[in-house]
Amino acid sequence: MRIDVVSIFPAFFDVLDVSLLGKARSAGILDVRVHDLRDWTHDRHRTVDDTPYGGGAGMVMKPEPWGLALDEIAGPPAPDAAAPDGPDAPIIIFPSPAGEVFTQATARELSGASHLVFGCGRYEGIDERVFEYAKTLGSVRLVSLGDYVLNGGEVAVMAMIEAVGRLLPGVVGNPESLVEESHEEGLLEYPSYTKPSTWRGRDVPEVLLSGNHGAIAAWRHEQQVERTRVRRPDLLRETD
Ligand code: SAM
Repeated sequence: MRIDVVSIFPAFFDVLDVSLLGKARSAGILDVRVHDLRDWTHDRHRTVDDTPYGGGAGMVMKPEPWGLALDEIAGPPAPDAAAPDGPDAPIIIFPSPAGEVFTQATARELSGASHLVFGCGRYEGIDERVFEYAKTLGSVRLVSLGDYVLNGGEVAVMAMIEAVGRLLPGVVGNPESLVEESHEEGLLEYPSYTKPSTWRGRDVPEVLLSGNHGAIAAWRHEQQVERTRVRRPDLLRETD
C-alpha cells in the first residue's frame, strides 16, 4: 500500500520508522511518503495560511499550496467525473473533528485500498474549496478521530496509519490476533493474563488454567459481553 501524507510538520511522522510499521516499511509492505506542504509555496515566507473571509478568530490554510500538492501526489485531475472512483484512484483523507468518526470498520475498509493520501489541517482548518477540488482526483473522506479538537491532523493521521497498517498482510506476526481484538466483532476484547498464575495475591481465573478449550471460549465470550455492557453499552445497541 502506498500512503502519502502532507503536513506542515513532517517530523511528526518520524516515528513511522520504529516498531512494526517501521519493519513493514523496510519490507516494502508499506510505502509511506511524507511531504512538507510548504514545498508547494512560492513566496519568501513559505506562507500556508491567511485570514478568514467573513472575519472570525484564527487563520485558514490557503488553497493554492494544497492544490499543487494534491495535483502532484494524487493528480492529475480525471478527464471525466466518474474516473476518480476507479480502483486506481486514491482515497484522499482529510482529518477533521467535523468528519465521520474513524472506527475499526473504517480501518478495515481503508486497508483494502492501494493508495491513501492524508492532508493534515492546522489552524482553523483548510479552505473548503480544497475538499471540493480533491474530489476531481480521488474519493474524498473527512474523518474524525473522536469528539474532541486537536491542534492539527498529524496525531489523527498517525493513529489512522497505525490502525490501517497493522491490518495489512505480513505486518502483524500472527494474523489470528487481529481477529480476536476489541471492535472486530462489535464487542470489547476479553481480559488477558500471563505468568505467574498468582501475582501479589491476585489469581488468574481458574478456567484459564483448566485446559478445557470449550469452557475457556465460553468464559471469554461472557467476559466480552459483560465488559461491553458495562463500559460501552452503545456498542451493544448498535448490534441489536
Ligand atoms: N476549526 C475546526 C473545527 O472547529 O472543526 C478545528 C480545527 S483544528 C484546531 C485544526 C486541525 O486539526 C483540523 O483541520 C484537523 O486536521 C485536525 N483535527 C482536530 N481535531 C481533530 C479530530 N478530532 N479528528 C481529526 N482531526 C482533527
